[in-house]
This record gives sequence, C-alpha cells and structure tokens, in this order.
Amino acid sequence: MNVEAILKGKGDDVTTVDTSTKLARAAHLLTEKKIGALVVMDGDRVRGIVSERDIVRTLSVAGAEALDMEIGQVMTQNVITCTREDTLDQLMSLMTGRRFRHLPVVEDDKLIGIVSIGDVVKHRLAETEMEAEQLRLYIATG
Ligand code: AMP
Repeated sequence: MNVEAILKGKGDDVTTVDTSTKLARAAHLLTEKKIGALVVMDGDRVRGIVSERDIVRTLSVAGAEALDMEIGQVMTQNVITCTREDTLDQLMSLMTGRRFRHLPVVEDDKLIGIVSIGDVVKHRLAETEMEAEQLRLYIATG
C-alpha cells in the first residue's frame, strides 16, 4: 500500500493558510475542519506546517496575546514531505522517527494531498485484516 492508494480513498483536499493568517483563525479552522494541522503556503509552494501542538505551545508561552500572532511566527519551517510512491512502512517510520503526525504529499513542488497518522493506522489495519483473511482462507482450503 502506498500514498497514492490512501489519496484515492480520502481525496486531495488540504486545508491551507498563509504566513499572515492569525493564530485565532488557524485554531478556528482546525476545529471547524476537525483536523490537526494546516499546511502554510506561499502561492503554490509549501512554506511551513502548523499543528495543534504549535498552537497550544504558543498559547502556553504567550498567553491570550498569541491569538493575534501570525502563523509565520509559529509554524515549523522545515517541512518533511512525502511522495505518491512512498509506502505505508516509509510513512510510519518517518512519523515515528521524527515524532509528528502529518505528512504533506508533494509532487513537482506542488502540494497534492496530506496524510495523517490516522490515515496510516486506518490503512494499516485494513491491510492486516486482509492478510489475516487470506491466511484463514489458505488454511481452510488447504
Ligand atoms: P504533529 O504531531 O503533526 O501535531 O506535529 C508535532 C510538531 O511537528 C509540530 O511542531 C509541527 O509543526 C511539526 N510537524 C508536523 N508535521 C510535520 C512535517 N511533516 N514536517 C516537519 N514538521 C512537522
């Protein structure tokens, strides 16, 4: 299973903001869309990523004033991305090793989707169930 198969199921919709978006607006978007991260764009290019963790951290440091800060001050700038061809195993190892839960999918410098740890777990479970079913069939039919 690879990223392409995941995107086929969930689509290519990615919620994005730009660096001047206020933190209050970003928090509102995360809540409204029931997601954990926003990709920060500069035109067509990925400039950063901001997750709920960045927002909580900034609020704990700066207090309520943080709500008026711009996302450019809060985001992670060095975004690790994946490609359509990457496998579930590669995604799991990246997310576990780097301790984050979101991977934007980029092709030819263009954002074409995003994969979250929830998507990875869902597809891994489906894969495991299919393998178990095949084993059951194999044993039952000899
Ligand atoms: P998350 O676990 O995705 O909520 O993110 C934890 C931290 O990692 C936050 O500071 C994010 O900005 C950062 N982060 C999330 N995804 C990525 C990514 N793909 N590349 C770089 N940093 C990321």
